[in-house]
Amino acid sequence: MMPPPLGLYLHIPFCRQRCDFCAFYLEIHREGRAQAFVQSLIQEIELSAQQHVAVGRPIQSVYIGGGTPTVLATTQLIAILSGIRTHLALASDCEITVEAHPSMASEQDLVQLLQAGITRMSFGAESMEDGDLARIGRPGAVCETVTAVTQARAAGFTNISLETLAYCLTLEPTHLSCYALTVEEDTRLASNIQRRLSPAPDESLQIEMDEAAQRMLGDAGYERYEVSNYAKPGYACRHNLLYWTNGEYLGLGPSAQSYLDGTRFGNVADLATYDTSLAENRLPIADRIRLSKEEQLRDAVIFGLRLIQGIPTHRLHQHAANYGHAAITARLLAQQLIEEDGERSRLSARGRLQADRSHPQRTPEGTPRPFTRCGLAGRSF
Ligand code: SF4
Repeated sequence: MMPPPLGLYLHIPFCRQRCDFCAFYLEIHREGRAQAFVQSLIQEIELSAQQHVAVGRPIQSVYIGGGTPTVLATTQLIAILSGIRTHLALASDCEITVEAHPSMASEQDLVQLLQAGITRMSFGAESMEDGDLARIGRPGAVCETVTAVTQARAAGFTNISLETLAYCLTLEPTHLSCYALTVEEDTRLASNIQRRLSPAPDESLQIEMDEAAQRMLGDAGYERYEVSNYAKPGYACRHNLLYWTNGEYLGLGPSAQSYLDGTRFGNVADLATYDTSLAENRLPIADRIRLSKEEQLRDAVIFGLRLIQGIPTHRLHQHAANYGHAAITARLLAQQLIEEDGERSRLSARGRLQADRSHPQRTPEGTPRPFTRCGLAGRSF
């Protein structure tokens, strides 16, 4: 029997500065720290290859996220990729994504990344309005996104992901992530809202925008395959889908989370401790939780509800009956957080917003990072 697909997530914990809305674990980029981190990460790849059940299983998707992976030199990114190829087995058609800030990848870098085997570039545009970028404390300018996409195409990339709308469509990306802004605790944005310096997100407006996005992107030939993600046919992000189908993945780098063999485990969210642990030849795992059969099934149901195809309605009710969740499921239906169309069940627009808000971390592609607990599950099941 073919082993189930396995994904690999690498967390590059550096940015040039912190955006106002960002609560991810990261450090401000310094050359010396970055070089030490690259050595540690390659060491972690090697140790993981020796110690995890991942050994020998072909990896179907690699996602290099952060932080901003492209603050590293292209030679450092290529060294990491070479470490992966040396110690782990990549499937021949492996999807390999690198997240990039639009201002931090020249045409020459992009050509080198393509030649090194990167198959997909994901540019964090955040907005196609310079005024919005300033309001959310995001460095960069819209023209840089336009240049980055043009250069990536010229370099030979055919799979390009972006994160904002109307103007983005003119750049014809193959993948778009559209998600509501989540105000994370302890961010500058949260403090600005508290001090009434910035307006709080408006829930009904977010639902209207979500519906408008679905209409606009549907008309432009994009399929919504997950609550926050749209793609041209054949361009759904395989790595995203792995999370939503409750697949297994190995996460490396500080604060990265993994799910293997019914166990969720996470790395220490501190670069110095991470480096020390690897210098001593120890994996930097900080917490580990073995999920019961019930919890594994619950996660499969909750993740499946986020997919636009949803899950079979009978499976939702069977799960609810088997594990004593019937009353809660009925309440979610009554509150219209879950919708049923007879054969399939999925989150409603309001349910999606609630689920997004309760996720602790999300990648710039709008996908929650691999996490130890499903947010909606934590609230409702
Ligand atoms: S939102 Fe992205 S670019 Fe901004 S600080 Fe967070 S990880 Fe870095």
